[in-house]
Amino acid sequence: MSNYSYDDIGENLRIITSNIKESYAKYRSDGSKVEIMAVTKTVPPEVVNWVFDFGLDLLGENRVQEYLSKKDSYLKDSGSGSPTRIHFIGHLQTNKVKYIIDDVDMIQSVDSLKLASEINRLAATHNKIMDVLCEVNIGGEESKSGVSPDSLIPLIEQIAQLENIRIKGLMTIPPPSESDIFLGRMEELFHKVQDSHIERTEIEQLSMGMTHDYADAVKYGSTMVRIGTGIFGKRNYL
Ligand SMILES: *Cc1c(COP(=O)(O)O)cnc(C)c1O
Repeated sequence: MSNYSYDDIGENLRIITSNIKESYAKYRSDGSKVEIMAVTKTVPPEVVNWVFDFGLDLLGENRVQEYLSKKDSYLKDSGSGSPTRIHFIGHLQTNKVKYIIDDVDMIQSVDSLKLASEINRLAATHNKIMDVLCEVNIGGEESKSGVSPDSLIPLIEQIAQLENIRIKGLMTIPPPSESDIFLGRMEELFHKVQDSHIERTEIEQLSMGMTHDYADAVKYGSTMVRIGTGIFGKRNYL
């Protein structure tokens, strides 16, 4: 934890916020918001808690085990007095849904009916409605999770039938090279899904943009950028 600096994190967030504002002012007029998520992987919870002092209240979690080991150390109320929100953003195995169903406010990595059905089943037993995003493999990359663009609308139509799930939008991790092309395709796809007016969905969120491409993602309609390295510095994998 000694490598992390409170002041650096504050400065990083000021720069990111100002870059987002600049990109938004230049390219957007849709009136929607852009929210910053702090992606916490490998960062000690005591350090993660610092971001609340700088006005963030949204954390992104990738790994179930790591999240479970950290969650009790997160402050429940962010600096502004609003409760800390947790979104699960990593690949999620069906048999691990049970460990997070009660704790997270959204699951952004839903890419199959099988996973959605398990989320729905457990949400029902816990008396809650889980907000989800559908993860899209916009670059068609073999190594990445996510549904293909062609299968997206049929999948949303099926998931929308599940009573204890509410689909709030789309999430993607575009290929790092030619990111611009894929961000643009993602924006088109997002509007196509919105225009399809699928019953029981509320398509509002387009979660895209990470440290290397968040300013471009804002240009292409992102409503939520997910940033790790840009806030906390380079990750130290043990
Ligand atoms: C790690 C991660 C991020 C953040 O990546 P950075 O390049 O560190 O900003 C965003 N989204 C997902 C799904 C991630 O796994």
